[in-house]
Amino acid sequence: MVPSFSYIRPGSLDEAIGMLSSDGARVHAGGTDLLGCLRERVFDVSTVVSIAGLRELRGIEATAAGGLRIGALTTIAEVARHPVIRSKYRALSMAAAEVASPQLRNQGTIGGNLCQKPRCWYYRGEFHCLRKGGDRCYAVEGENAYHCILGGENCFIVHPSDTAPALAALQAGVVIAGPGGRRTVAVEDFHVPPSEDYTRETVLEPAEIVTEIVLPPPAEGLRSSYRKVRARRAWDFALAGVALAIVFAGDQAADSRVVLSGAAPVPWRSAEAEKLLKGRRLNRDRAAKAAGAAVKDAEPMTQNEYKIPLFRGLIEQQLTAIAQTG
Ligand SMILES: Cc1cc2nc3c(=O)[nH]c(=O)nc-3n(C[C@H](O)[C@H](O)[C@H](O)COP(=O)(O)OP(=O)(O)OC[C@H]3O[C@@H](n4cnc5c(N)ncnc54)[C@H](O)[C@@H]3O)c2cc1C
Repeated sequence: MVPSFSYIRPGSLDEAIGMLSSDGARVHAGGTDLLGCLRERVFDVSTVVSIAGLRELRGIEATAAGGLRIGALTTIAEVARHPVIRSKYRALSMAAAEVASPQLRNQGTIGGNLCQKPRCWYYRGEFHCLRKGGDRCYAVEGENAYHCILGGENCFIVHPSDTAPALAALQAGVVIAGPGGRRTVAVEDFHVPPSEDYTRETVLEPAEIVTEIVLPPPAEGLRSSYRKVRARRAWDFALAGVALAIVFAGDQAADSRVVLSGAAPVPWRSAEAEKLLKGRRLNRDRAAKAAGAAVKDAEPMTQNEYKIPLFRGLIEQQLTAIAQTG
């Protein structure tokens, strides 16, 4: 049962920030994740501050620099079908189209997708795990088939968002407004790994709100893609996923970003794979080498070793495919 709480709809961003400054207040955007968390008692809430009426947080428009601004309240469905995103930032439209189900994409927002809570069944269930202030990660000795193989320390969740790895690959920034004013953080630095702090998922401070996401102008020769593998053909989170953003000069990968989903507690940028691609002709052999490097340091848990060959095959396949789409 959902606990009782006050529900407020502020008329402006400043008002929303003010209301969020009280203890136990939470942002409500589309509500698709928040309401599940409240029902499952993942955290307590005294006040739900709905930002859904704030028009300035909506819409997609070109920036003066030639990039794109996406308001935090833009729905995932709008992101998936936007013509400029489809043609210039393909990884993002592909990732958005892979999120959940059509109903959830119509209701869920891009800001909420970046800020959603982990899907670990211990965290969501009746377990007082480390991330909820307890003394252990139950996945270590429990069911860990869907947990991480990279970047786990104390807590072994995988980051749930499909759009975050695509945005990190495309070098997007997150604009945040709060009591101290505005700041911009690279999507790549927006999520907090458990090695730094296992009680929080993002760099958001109390009363801060994500207002927009800003994509830089696409570099000449940029090709990007996102693909995820899931356990079933209906909606599901990534078992393994890869976002690629590669700047081609002829058949060479002049610059590359390889970001994994379903691998780690945060969207996982593979510096090892990127290093092997830089300045090299991207053929099948190079793709296989880069894919191997991406999982070289993987540390599987008792039930998820299968993810290593899964990632290796997926990354090799996607690198080979992107080289052939020019
Ligand atoms: C059945 C199901 C399947 C799903 N499958 C997938 C999937 O395959 N891939 C995937 O990526 N996601 C998946 N999701 C997650 C879904 O995409 C998110 O629930 C959705 O994107 C959240 O958006 P929202 O606007 O509804 O956020 P809300 O539920 O309103 O908020 C989510 C969290 O973010 C915070 N928040 C929201 N907006 C802001 C903001 N602007 N600033 C600061 N904090 C904010 C809220 O306080 C809350 O903690 C699934 C969800 C469900 C329920």
